[in-house]
Amino acid sequence: MNATPLADLSADDLAALLHEQQAAYEELKAKGLSLDLTRGKPSAQQLDLSDRLLQLPSTTRSASGVDVRNYGGLEGLKELREMFAELLWVEPEQLVAGGSSSLTMMRECLVDLVLFGGVDSERPWGQEEKVRFVCPVPGYDRHFTLLESLGIEMLTVPMDDDGPDAEAVAALVADDPTIKGMWVVPTYANPTGAVVTQEVAARLTSMPTAAPDFKIFWDNAYALHHLTEDEAKSADVLTLASAAGHPHRPIMFASTSKITYAGAGVAFLAASTDNVAWYLRHLGNGSIGPDKVNHLRHVEFFGTPQGVRDHMVKHREIIAPKFAEVDRVLTERLGGRGVATWNTPAGGYFVNLDVVPGTASRVVELAREAGVALTPAGSSFPYKQDPDDTNIRLAPTMPPVAEVTGAMEAVATCVLLAAAEKASQGTQDA
Ligand code: PMP
Repeated sequence: MNATPLADLSADDLAALLHEQQAAYEELKAKGLSLDLTRGKPSAQQLDLSDRLLQLPSTTRSASGVDVRNYGGLEGLKELREMFAELLWVEPEQLVAGGSSSLTMMRECLVDLVLFGGVDSERPWGQEEKVRFVCPVPGYDRHFTLLESLGIEMLTVPMDDDGPDAEAVAALVADDPTIKGMWVVPTYANPTGAVVTQEVAARLTSMPTAAPDFKIFWDNAYALHHLTEDEAKSADVLTLASAAGHPHRPIMFASTSKITYAGAGVAFLAASTDNVAWYLRHLGNGSIGPDKVNHLRHVEFFGTPQGVRDHMVKHREIIAPKFAEVDRVLTERLGGRGVATWNTPAGGYFVNLDVVPGTASRVVELAREAGVALTPAGSSFPYKQDPDDTNIRLAPTMPPVAEVTGAMEAVATCVLLAAAEKASQGTQDA
């Protein structure tokens, strides 16, 4: 295969390449594919790993004597909080076990901040003229749509390999009291796979902020979701923040959506004890207690924190080959061409593909017409606007490996075709 970078091709070679890729694309369309790499969902095989949950709990009482069938215990079942406190490196008193969605908890916190203000707010955020959030990009699309739904404006900073560009964040928040918070996905970020280092976490928790009630929404959705044996440990954000004199700054979120069942797992919130009391006070106006039956069956299912870690190894065995396949196909088809870069994440659920600037939407459109659904270009940016039209998020966990192969072959063809189209336009314009 000719792996000359497109930029080094002569006009004739470029025309030949365009022709070749157009033919490959027509062949692709003729296959009538129907493949989907859009969302980071666990596959059925992964969900099967947790089917013993359907026979649990074996009893109606927890070890601490709670009848899990009844109302109460807003903070969640003690035994489950103890188990996950160890896994998330927090104290059980700092941890709430709730319903099945951590995204719902994030929304609850934001709504409470807007309506009532936080423990360190001068007034409810809703009474401020303007509220803004710092959003590392590329990032998680639902974080951005959530902020948009509440009228919270978004400012972007780059998401680097060691986490958000902390100096850029510090510069923004130092003098601007309208900036009330930021998102961080600290471990195997959606979609870049970056892991926030201890240094970056320390900077974000200690930086001076003009807003006294600045919040870090520390969404540790992939805390335990390793793809290699080298298991990244998340920075201990609550301790760092406390030590820096900002104990109420971080609110951590996590869930078992991609550990047990994505629709029937357990979500967690961890924060300073004052923040936890604040959260529960507002929650208590709308709930008499969480689904402790679900909490107890999770306790029985895992047995110990190590049981959770062991379970995650089984997930890894299922999904790591899919990520390896994405990398293999992209390397074979696009390596050396100068048309794309991508990451090989050590955990999480996504591969971040950057194509020739100005072609991401075209790639997604070409793929769609060939029967391969990709997340819409721009999704990983606030307001769905990728200024460079370069970023595509790939989610390979759900389809079987053979389908990942087919989908990635198709994506590679679309990336090459879009790049060749763009490069040919360039030669025509010149
Ligand atoms: N945060 C991130 C970064 C995610 O990628 C996801 C799932 N795609 C969620 C939160 C959603 O979590 P939950 O299922 O607990 O609502």
